[in-house]
Order: sequence, then structure tokens, then C-alpha cells
Amino acid sequence: MSSELSIPTDAPVLVTGATGYVAGRVVERLLQEGLTVHATVRDPSNTERLGYLTDLAQGSPGEIRFFGADLTKPGSFAEAMEGCQVVFHVASPFINNVEDPQKELVDPAVDGTTNVLEQANATDSVTRVVVTSSCAAIYGDAIDLQSTPRGVFDEEVWNTTSTLTHNAYSLSKTLAERKAWEIAEAQDRWRLVVCNPALVMGPGVRIHPSSESHNLMKQMVDGTMASGMPDLQIGVVDVRDLAEAHLRAGFLPEAEGRHVLVGTNASVPMMVDALRATWGKLRLPKRIAPKWLLWLVGPFAGLTRAFVSRNIGHPWKADNSKSIEKLGLTYRPLADTLNDFVQQLVDDGTVQAP
Ligand code: NAP
Repeated sequence: MSSELSIPTDAPVLVTGATGYVAGRVVERLLQEGLTVHATVRDPSNTERLGYLTDLAQGSPGEIRFFGADLTKPGSFAEAMEGCQVVFHVASPFINNVEDPQKELVDPAVDGTTNVLEQANATDSVTRVVVTSSCAAIYGDAIDLQSTPRGVFDEEVWNTTSTLTHNAYSLSKTLAERKAWEIAEAQDRWRLVVCNPALVMGPGVRIHPSSESHNLMKQMVDGTMASGMPDLQIGVVDVRDLAEAHLRAGFLPEAEGRHVLVGTNASVPMMVDALRATWGKLRLPKRIAPKWLLWLVGPFAGLTRAFVSRNIGHPWKADNSKSIEKLGLTYRPLADTLNDFVQQLVDDGTVQAP
């Protein structure tokens, strides 16, 4: 059973990468609790880009203050972290199309974690650091399920299969989380609690076209997959449930360790089915693309043959019981997450209304 949430509002909290999709909902949830949020962004002078976060704070009991910080610059987080009780380290590049995976993914993820956590070491007020890792630090490909001890992805499992040339984003998340544990275990003043979400879906506090979550949702409903969808099994978690998980990871006194955050063990066909009742008039895919075809044409659509071989048609299953028992989380149904997400894309004009 999870214990009671205890949220002192007399000291600020830090959220890194506040302009991101996930961070937006985390900031919102913290503001709702009356907290003062120190929000780091790469360019704090761009008040137009930050306006929606300022509006969020104005409509809530909490307050927001913006600070400039870059993951790749040592010492960058010092000013923002001053006086903070809890640090939520959310920022990390989440991009699939990169030319130099070491420079664009691994270095900012690992150096960013080092900079933020070393700054926690240097900031006496910090008692807890919550790191947004990923299920990508638990597994690389669905086929890895076969080598798990219990036949399920859980907190004991680490990704050992991703490389710079195969699933480099997953490698970046794995190395960053390992670095976080290394730094945390070398001290005893603050506690590290890790969130390991699967694919995050659902409406952000606004549209975030830069997030891969947005791209996948859009492709599912805008006709991109009309000729056939991949039989890709994957976990899904609602961005609003993920924000709640961050709050609880930050403030439940007994929260510790890693947390698999998965609302539904899903698949692309299951997601499309969940959308059909409400969004059947959109250009939803009707059939599953054969694996041999994906293997053949995948490379032209950004799917490597290794990815197709090791993921398409393979079962995927994660165990979310720790998040329910220890964080007291309840997860939204998959259909609510996806329907609300598509509604946001339609309202914004990103997807043509049916
Ligand atoms: P996102 O919208 O692209 O947000 C990424 C954030 O990281 C942005 O705020 C970005 O800042 C910041 N960032 C990137 N490089 C940076 C740098 N060098 N210095 C400072 N900030 C930098 O992606 P997201 O989906 O919200 O992802 C947020 C976190 O959740 C990441 O840690 C990601 O690995 C994790 N996660 C996401 C998913 C998912 O399905 N979306 C699943 C599992 C885990 P700018 O706005 O300035 O670019």
C-alpha cells in the first residue's frame, strides 16, 4: 500500500525541460498543489513560447519562475536549483531521426543527468531527485521479453541490447539512468526515485509537435498508415497519469527505486480499434501490414530491418503492479487516452476533422 502524500509548499521544486510534452503536465500537476516551480528552459527570453506555462500558473494556486539551462553545460542548473526541495529531471532529447546519435542523443542525455545530479550534490536543500527514465532503459526490442527472468518487463530488467546503430534513443536512456544510479548511490543526502514510462500518449497541456508521441498519434489517424499498420506491441501510459506518478514519486515518503509506468500492454492494432468508435471517419488503418513487406520497405519509412525483425509480431508485456501498490496510481482506460489525444489534434487543426 502507498502511504499518504505529504507536500510541503514552503520550498520550490525544479522541473528540467519545462517546454516538453511530458514536463508540461508535470508542471501543471505541481502548480495544482500550490508549489513554486522553477522551470528550466533553453531560452527563457522567448516569452511568447513560454506564455502557455505562465497562463497555467496564473490559473492555479502555484507559481512558476523560468531559468535558462542547457543539459550540455556544466553548472547550468545551479541558479534554478537553489533552495529547491525536489528536482524533477525530465529533459532529454526524444528524437528518432538523428545523424549523429552520440552527439544528439547519448551525450545530452548522459551529460545532462550528470550535470543535474551533480548539482543536487552541491545543493543542500535537495532531498529527492525524480528522474524521468523510460521503459527504453528496461528493454531494447520486444524480442528481449524472451530473455527476462519472469517473462515480463519489470523493474529488475535492464536494456542490454541497444547500441549507437540500433535503437540509439533507448541506449541514451539506459546510459543516463545507469549514470543517475551511480551518482545517487555515491551519496546519502538525497534519494533517487525513477519513473520508467512506456510510450506516452494523451493530450499535453498544448500541442507538442516536437515529441515522437505526437508524431505516432498523428500517423495513426491522418492516413499515413492507411495502406497497413505494423503489428507492433508496446506499452502505453497516459501523460496525465505519468504526471501523477511524478508527483507521487516526488512526495510519497517511502517511494524508492524504479517504477514501470504502463497503463495498457497495447499494440498499434489495439490502439486503432480503441479509436474506431469515436474516430471511425478519420483515415484509420484497416489492415495489418505483413511483416515481410515491412522488412522490405521499412528502411524507406525509417524502420530498420533489425527493428522489424526484432519487434514486429513479437509479444510485449510489462508488469505495472509496483506503480499501483507503491505509488497508489490508477490508470485511465486506453480509449480515453487516445480519444482525448485525437480530439486535441483535431481541435488544433493538426488533423482534419472528419
Ligand atoms: P519533448 O516534448 O521533445 O521534450 C524533451 C525536452 O527535453 C524538451 O523540453 C527539450 O527542450 C529538452 N531538451 C532536449 N535537449 C536539451 C538540451 N540539450 N538542454 C536542455 N533541454 C533539452 O519529449 P517528451 O516526450 O516530453 O520527453 C520528455 C522526457 O520523457 C524525456 O526524458 C523522454 O526520454 C521521456 N520519455 C518520453 C516518452 C514518450 O513516449 N514521450 C516515453 C518514455 C520516456 P526544448 O523544448 O528547448 O527543445
